[in-house]
Amino acid sequence: MQGVGFRPFVYRLAGAQHLSGWVRNAGDGVEIFVEGPAAALDAFLLCVQHEAPPAARISGVDVWNDAPAGSDRFDIVESKRVDRPTVRISPDLPVCGQCVRELRDPADRRAGYPYINCTNCGPRFTIIEQLPYDRPHTTMKAWVMCEACSQEYENPLDRRYHAQPVACPACGPAYRFVTPGGVSRAADAEAIRRAADALSAGRIGAVKGLGGYHLACDARRGETVRALRKRKFRKEKPFAVMVRDLEAARELVLVSEEARAVLEGPVRPIVIMPAREPLEDVAPGSDDLGIMLPYAPLHVLLFDAGCPAALVMTSANRSSEPIAYRDDDAVERLTGIADFFLMGDRPIARRVDDSVVRPGPAGTTVLRRSRGYAPAPAAVLPAERPILAVGADLKNAITLVVGGEAFVSQHIGDLEHFDALTAFDETVEDLLDMYRVREDELLVVHDAHPEYVSTRRAQRWGAERAAVQHHRAHVASVLVERGDFERRVVGLALDGTGYGDDGTIWGGEVFAGSLAGGFDRVAHLRPASLPGGDAAATHPVQAAAGFLAALDGLPNLEDAPFSFPKRYGQALQLLSRQVRTFETTSTGRLFDTAAALLGFTRPITFEGQAAIWLERRARRSRERRAYPFPDLDYRPLLSALVADVAAGVRRDDAARAFHMGLADGFAASASALCERERIDTVVLSGGVFQNQLLTGRIFEILTEKGLHVWSNRHVPPNDGGISLGQAALAGLERASFA
Ligand code: ZN
Ligand code: ZN
Ligand code: FE
Repeated sequence: MQGVGFRPFVYRLAGAQHLSGWVRNAGDGVEIFVEGPAAALDAFLLCVQHEAPPAARISGVDVWNDAPAGSDRFDIVESKRVDRPTVRISPDLPVCGQCVRELRDPADRRAGYPYINCTNCGPRFTIIEQLPYDRPHTTMKAWVMCEACSQEYENPLDRRYHAQPVACPACGPAYRFVTPGGVSRAADAEAIRRAADALSAGRIGAVKGLGGYHLACDARRGETVRALRKRKFRKEKPFAVMVRDLEAARELVLVSEEARAVLEGPVRPIVIMPAREPLEDVAPGSDDLGIMLPYAPLHVLLFDAGCPAALVMTSANRSSEPIAYRDDDAVERLTGIADFFLMGDRPIARRVDDSVVRPGPAGTTVLRRSRGYAPAPAAVLPAERPILAVGADLKNAITLVVGGEAFVSQHIGDLEHFDALTAFDETVEDLLDMYRVREDELLVVHDAHPEYVSTRRAQRWGAERAAVQHHRAHVASVLVERGDFERRVVGLALDGTGYGDDGTIWGGEVFAGSLAGGFDRVAHLRPASLPGGDAAATHPVQAAAGFLAALDGLPNLEDAPFSFPKRYGQALQLLSRQVRTFETTSTGRLFDTAAALLGFTRPITFEGQAAIWLERRARRSRERRAYPFPDLDYRPLLSALVADVAAGVRRDDAARAFHMGLADGFAASASALCERERIDTVVLSGGVFQNQLLTGRIFEILTEKGLHVWSNRHVPPNDGGISLGQAALAGLERASFA
């Protein structure tokens, strides 16, 4: 990995052993030439492998003998240019403890300087324009280092030795406080103080961070947060909160030990944790809150300047457009949303959102893989040629495989938005450029859905193309993360929507097979007829009409206690006339159906909302019953639910019995298959596994039966992980080649 202080480390090590020679970055790693007594060389080699800086991961060491050059010094020499850099680019790192101390030391020349950094911390991926990672290849190229900074940069014993973004108030970029009225001359300390004051006074600010702009405001001011929602056209989707420190986090949420480690770790993602008291405007209808700690020096300075201890910090955009990261674009798109801008001079090379994770029953799950993770490789696979996998249309992320390493891009977004599509094109170009891969040597892999925007995009590139079925990609993503290509598993893929082999909408699938051998669909949720196509995904009662049509003796659901709106009757008519109806095995729509029966009868405003609402109800209950769900037939399950609601059973209890029934049924199906096929491992993936209650219960049942249960660790179980699974199946030639 470049930019993690590895060369200075080697320099110091050579010095300690009195060895001469040199070290340099090469496109495919680091090259070291050392000469000296054999014992010292042995000691040196041992230390290189075992004492490397924490962010440097050594994937292999090759040693060979050469004639001594007779030099009496050790140097760090210029990078060697190569045709295709397969070297790993470091993700961005949060500001380190030493830099924070300098930031707060009035005697330090970088006191209060928002662009402070060193070899142990600071931006990487968000400032790199091309490889190898050297200052002229970064967005810092416009700033010439002053005397003091270059001395630090040149001195191998300094903490800033070859820290590419090194700068100080005398020579580097600055932050400015800008209002729509005009540019204020206030820079750095004064600009930050003004921003902190404005935030304390209830204003909304656009704050430039590492990978883009955030919209920030006081999280505890309901009125301000509501104003932000209105201006941003974001009705109910939860906002993330940045808190001053761990103590401030503990005031808002219950921080488990596992959560604390992630919160303070080198990624600094948004960590979803149980709220102490719901913050209704920040996360409407949720018992959880997404919290992150300051990670850029600017954030530390804002809190030090006295801004509120809990700030809403949400990607600066309207609705679900991609995050704004260019200054002119930010001003254009955010005027009318932000009352002020805190703008930094240093350009951002590419947009990178905050990552989102949640500690849960099967370990910590990554829900959005972006800053701090990207572009580190998520897996290694046996693929000789470069592969570009373009993912799915929602929560899009792409994967480029070069030299067998799978680089998963940062989160891109929902491709139905034009801006997200532009971001998608930029990211493809960026990755191909970075790794110097030509379009015409690519194998391009896309979803089997012929109507996906990503599919149509993919058809423009590559020498060869292949399609991978959505749910097989979900299952594959788990296995390739673990590097297990041969193991036969049972795969449970549960999610909202995916194009099936037969052209119907899948989403409740049970597979058997392996990465190398491919996956056979062996069982699935009983199919239902979905009226109205895509609209059924946003109207739970419309999905309900489809699933409930298969039940006998149903009461009139337009009456109390169900009180379904008119749309339900309209959907029933579509069904009876068989117009615009689609067959589906979607578990997501089954969740929507249950949510509708329990009172969620309005349209959803973000993906998965009704299911999240249902899980919240279920988590409040101690119900032990499980509705029957034999052979993945939802009819007895829904009949029991309808009967309970009609009989006035507590809705939280009914929600829980629904979850337990689903868990029992899917677990039973998986374990029966394991037994029949002599398989000992079950893989869980798909957006439905973001539901912790269901995942936890399935995990429990299968583990008790002595089975291994694997879920995603590095990429999301939702569609953010699809591209990795696509790449794996295509790499192993388990895709449909065009
Ligand atoms: Zn530092
Ligand atoms: Zn300087
Ligand atoms: Fe999916």
